[in-house]
Amino acid sequence: MTVEKKKGRVFSGARPTGRQHLGNYLGAMQNYVALQNEYECIYCVVDLHALTTLDTTRDLCSNTYEMALDWLAVGIDPQKSIVFVQSHVPQVTELHTILSMVTPLGKLTDLPTFKDKVRENPNNVNYGLVGYPVLMSADIVLYKADAVPVGVDQQPHIEFARETVRSFNYRFNTQVLIEPSMKVTQIPKVLGIDGQQKMGKSLNNHIELAATPEETSQRVMSMVTDPQRMRRTDPGNPDICNVYSMHKIFSAPEEVAHIDTECRRAGIGCVECKRLYAKNLNNHLEPFRSRRAELDKAPDHIWDVLHDGARRARAIAEQTMDEVRSAIGLAR
Ligand code: SF4
Repeated sequence: MTVEKKKGRVFSGARPTGRQHLGNYLGAMQNYVALQNEYECIYCVVDLHALTTLDTTRDLCSNTYEMALDWLAVGIDPQKSIVFVQSHVPQVTELHTILSMVTPLGKLTDLPTFKDKVRENPNNVNYGLVGYPVLMSADIVLYKADAVPVGVDQQPHIEFARETVRSFNYRFNTQVLIEPSMKVTQIPKVLGIDGQQKMGKSLNNHIELAATPEETSQRVMSMVTDPQRMRRTDPGNPDICNVYSMHKIFSAPEEVAHIDTECRRAGIGCVECKRLYAKNLNNHLEPFRSRRAELDKAPDHIWDVLHDGARRARAIAEQTMDEVRSAIGLAR
């Protein structure tokens, strides 16, 4: 199967975190689906990256499956895009080793993201964690991606990859590796049901896309709203309410306008407002859930898609590595 060349090639990877949540959906998955029509897309489950911080690998395989299942159910189309697992293309580790030779150690240890990780995992500052950005650069340049979709806060990662490419090309007097450009996307900050922090599984403030309608409604009903609104008769401020932010995404414009007006004069209560959001969210997710349930009946199909994706990715990767080895002058 060949992937038709479009505007260029896009690469994006995500750690295998299992069942995806609304934050993943609004922040990445919707964009992944939209990009397929314009670009040749390569989407990777970066399981090797996950090893830098995981305490246990017990759920790694099932999390890879669940995430891939969500990706396919949401509309990532393996006929249009290459979807695969990072560790199924071992060339990435070879390129990682080679790129690490042109990366000053101090540059890695000075990165704010590295310092954050050290703070989060003070007892597991491993060698892989330091080299994380080098592996990420290898992911991107191995497939000669023209562009990487990023949020504003991720731009330094791509700048790092661009510098790494320049260092390699300069060191070996070649133009083999391509500097990826950034495809900056407006990624909404999706807060968790606590209304305070970014939605994430580790904080248990998430809403899973694959949850049942009942589970989803339960999570929605526990969402934190305008904290000043203590009683039903208190007027609220939708501008600081996370439920209202979600209405703006999942509800019809006239409903959003109605809530905006009625909340401010205590014409609608938070319980009613949340019920409405839960209904609209469940309606929105219904086609995804049906498709997911259908795909989940044939797990072998999901693995076949990932293995076929890896085969196609390896073909690109091996060609790049041939050029890289030759540029360096490694014995053939
Ligand atoms: S009525 Fe709706 S928008 Fe207003 S505070 Fe309650 S949940 Fe938020």
